[in-house]
Amino acid sequence: MYDYDKLVTHFITSGYYFQGSEIYGGISNTWDYGPLGSEIKKNIKDMWWKRFVQESPTNVGIDAAILMNPKVWEATGHVSTFNDPLIDCKSCKMRYKADDLISSQFPNVEAGKMSNDELMDLIHKSHVKCPNCGKEDFTDIRQFNMMFKTHIGVTEDSQSAVYLRPETAQGMFVNFKNVLRTTRRKLPIGICNVGKAFRNEITPGQLTFRTREFDQMEMEFFTKPGDDLKWFDYWKGKCLDFIGELGISKDKLRYRDHDPKELAFYSKATTDIEYLFPWGWGEIWGIADRTDYDLKRHMDYSGESLEYLDPDTNEKYIPYCIEPSVGLDRLVLMTLFDAYSEEELPDGDSRIVMHLSPAVAPYKVAVLPLSKKLEEKAKEVHAVLSKYMSAVYDDTGSIGKRYRREDAIGTPYCVTIDFDSIEDNTVTVRDRDSMNQIRLNINELVEYLKVKIFF
Ligand code: ATP
Repeated sequence: MYDYDKLVTHFITSGYYFQGSEIYGGISNTWDYGPLGSEIKKNIKDMWWKRFVQESPTNVGIDAAILMNPKVWEATGHVSTFNDPLIDCKSCKMRYKADDLISSQFPNVEAGKMSNDELMDLIHKSHVKCPNCGKEDFTDIRQFNMMFKTHIGVTEDSQSAVYLRPETAQGMFVNFKNVLRTTRRKLPIGICNVGKAFRNEITPGQLTFRTREFDQMEMEFFTKPGDDLKWFDYWKGKCLDFIGELGISKDKLRYRDHDPKELAFYSKATTDIEYLFPWGWGEIWGIADRTDYDLKRHMDYSGESLEYLDPDTNEKYIPYCIEPSVGLDRLVLMTLFDAYSEEELPDGDSRIVMHLSPAVAPYKVAVLPLSKKLEEKAKEVHAVLSKYMSAVYDDTGSIGKRYRREDAIGTPYCVTIDFDSIEDNTVTVRDRDSMNQIRLNINELVEYLKVKIFF
């Protein structure tokens, strides 16, 4: 496993990530995606949409708004329960989630399930220490709501208060009826949505693993009660398949089933797909059988019926819902960590390679003229390729240096234009992983690369 700081430095210096508002000294744990990061993020997002919406016989997509009627968050319980127990070290002023603080020193204690009094009691009795300064001098625990609050309009009164959504899921629940009506579909149906979610996280960190603003890709899959566990297993499998398509090492992935004590009271089953990051296992995808909890709550709070009338059997019921919810930023981060490799070459040289799957790589191909005199031909080839895929042009430095540069950012193919290219319209195509080279006619290039790259 490579050193975390080394990898982060590589991602930042290559242009995957930039520190947010860097010229102003940044703002805590915000990250911008640079030219490479924005490409890979878009590729993974598009791939998810293709697999979960476009190719699915049951699913459709929506694009729901970030701002929702505040009653939505009362119905979901976010206003009353989306809280973290906060505790500060009085000595060094570091702030922690009290349950995380305990778990970090006593991994066998199920701190997440404890009341604040129990947490406080344990902190005192077990002599929990501040990981930063080693002192045992903490404030009391305070509850902190993680939703970002803002106001609509010019006045800041409580009437105009709204929240930035802490998850995209509720857009699907509140539109359940609209989707059924306009698509004229029957159950089962999955409604998918991609977009920003906001959580005022107490302990953001590890690059984009935990940030306050992030993208979720979620599906709410509505089915007849009784069929739910079958679909739960089905989507569990599909989610892992999707991660497999990103080219992630299988031995760094696992399902973590929530045991009955850990399950939310409304959930029949929940599984997380976790990845082994340099700092340990981290959740990538949560898949939950949420029963009819969300639709029922929205029925209670809105007064609207969200029951389903089965047109075939005339049965009326409130559908059960399976929710696979994944953070796009965590998928990108996992993909980058997994792809990084340092390799010794037969000639004694070494290289950094990002073994990214060609489907997600930021640039699919680099066009490299061997001499500046070949610029015209090379630009022609670059222009043609750019119509079909993201292609980069580089004419600076030795060809060896340029190959290394492309390896280090994960470009799967390099097309080299040499003096023969002018004569016979052929080019050299170099494969990033094997470093093998073949000669191809320029007219065959697009088809050759398309087959290798696209999912
Ligand atoms: P965690 O336990 O890591 O806080 P969670 O269980 O609260 O995550 P969910 O509410 O299930 O997360 O959200 C679904 C997915 O959204 C997570 O699996 C994760 O990929 C992503 N996600 C959640 N919070 C964040 C965050 N602060 N930053 C980036 N991605 C996030």
